[in-house]
Amino acid sequence: MPSDKPKEYCGLCGVVEGENVLERVHMGLHSLQHRGQEAAGVMAAFGDRCLLHKDLGLVEQVFHHIPSTWFDDGRRIRRAISHVRYGTAGGATASNAQPLMVNMAGQTVGIAHNGTICNAATLREELRNEGALFQTSTDTELILHLMSRALTTRCRGNIWDALEEAVLKLKGAFSLLLLTDNGMAAVRDPHGFRPLAVGDFDDGGFMVASETIAFGVTGASYVRDVEPGEILIWNGAGRMSSRQYAESPRLAHCVFEHVYFARPGSHVFGDSVYEARKEMGRVLAREAPVEADIIVPVPDSGIYAALGFAEESGIPIDMALSRNHYVGRTFIDPGLKISRKKLASRKLQPIPEAIKGKRICLVDDSIVRGVTSRARVRTIREAGAKEVHMRISCPPHRYGCYFGIDFPDRESLLANKVPEAGMSRALRLDSLVYLSKEGMLSCMKARKPEDFCCACFDGNYPVMPDQLDARQM
Ligand code: SF4
Repeated sequence: MPSDKPKEYCGLCGVVEGENVLERVHMGLHSLQHRGQEAAGVMAAFGDRCLLHKDLGLVEQVFHHIPSTWFDDGRRIRRAISHVRYGTAGGATASNAQPLMVNMAGQTVGIAHNGTICNAATLREELRNEGALFQTSTDTELILHLMSRALTTRCRGNIWDALEEAVLKLKGAFSLLLLTDNGMAAVRDPHGFRPLAVGDFDDGGFMVASETIAFGVTGASYVRDVEPGEILIWNGAGRMSSRQYAESPRLAHCVFEHVYFARPGSHVFGDSVYEARKEMGRVLAREAPVEADIIVPVPDSGIYAALGFAEESGIPIDMALSRNHYVGRTFIDPGLKISRKKLASRKLQPIPEAIKGKRICLVDDSIVRGVTSRARVRTIREAGAKEVHMRISCPPHRYGCYFGIDFPDRESLLANKVPEAGMSRALRLDSLVYLSKEGMLSCMKARKPEDFCCACFDGNYPVMPDQLDARQM
């Protein structure tokens, strides 16, 4: 279903050693489904070889079709990496699903990637000029090409040296999982844009995942984050070692993970997403008080900020919007021209008994194009609301993202088209106030405000894409 929310590109889960590797990676990846719903895949290392299974679809659909040969002869899976992907319209093909698996100078190497490399077009051009042939349109594949070149030249067959040499050439956001015949590695870019955490199991196994929610559902315990600029390597015996391949020029954790993307049950960048989101609601209530009869969260993403807002303001919270969980992409016949507006009103229905005659304060996490917000306000007014106010738990989105989040074109962003003073009129609201940037950044306690990327709010990009890349973004 077309959504008015920005999209995350990917989620990662890898398991090395311990029992039930495939089951653990499956459950871990399933808990990360919110990070990508177009395609899923898993690559597993058995005693003697690696196998790959990936396709378009949700985690459950793709894992359901793992070939039975994976389970022949009671073969034990020692390591596995897995991936969920959100693909843009042109990129949602099975060949772009991950992990990618290749043979590199006699070794099997697989890779899964979360983020966007913002010198990918430049590197791709260079590699093409040297004769490289690409099988996908993903920026991930060029990491394999860079590794392959390094492996057969300077790195003399050492796969981890080749990995280090390859990632040193990349700019932008990349959290990676690598799987080989002999080990597994996890990598994070020097800015630390996307989260990546390590957990362990009592039986000696390890899990690496985009969010710690994957540990909770599999029984793993959080150990630590993969540090920005670090490669963690597990050798064939499952022992972990670390290489700091680059110092961070400036940390730039994506603040939007806390605002919207990550699941509330996760910890990212050292903070609980639940606590951070609730605190955003509390700070918003102090910055932008409202005279209202009820606080109404926009489900699901506005719920935790609304809880904080209600707690701080003393105004009761009421679930006056009922969500239809069955309005999904499979419901929509592409031949039917159903407008975004109509889809929005099908997805969330106001409950007149909760709304009629009341002053409503809606709390949501963001406004992107504004189309769904406008439709929502209209249906709430039709349900009999006396006044409709809105509070947003982050600043207005005015810029795009080069680091792995798919925002619509700048020109489509409501805050870019309409001056802030005119926005509440544009959405037919009685009042609209956004959380300030300072207020938002004060809600994360484990990191300093300057350690976060806020570029989609303030245009201050921690790293700029190469010219060639910028033209293609
Ligand atoms: S630009 Fe926005 S969405 Fe992209 S990494 Fe920075 S904070 Fe996150």
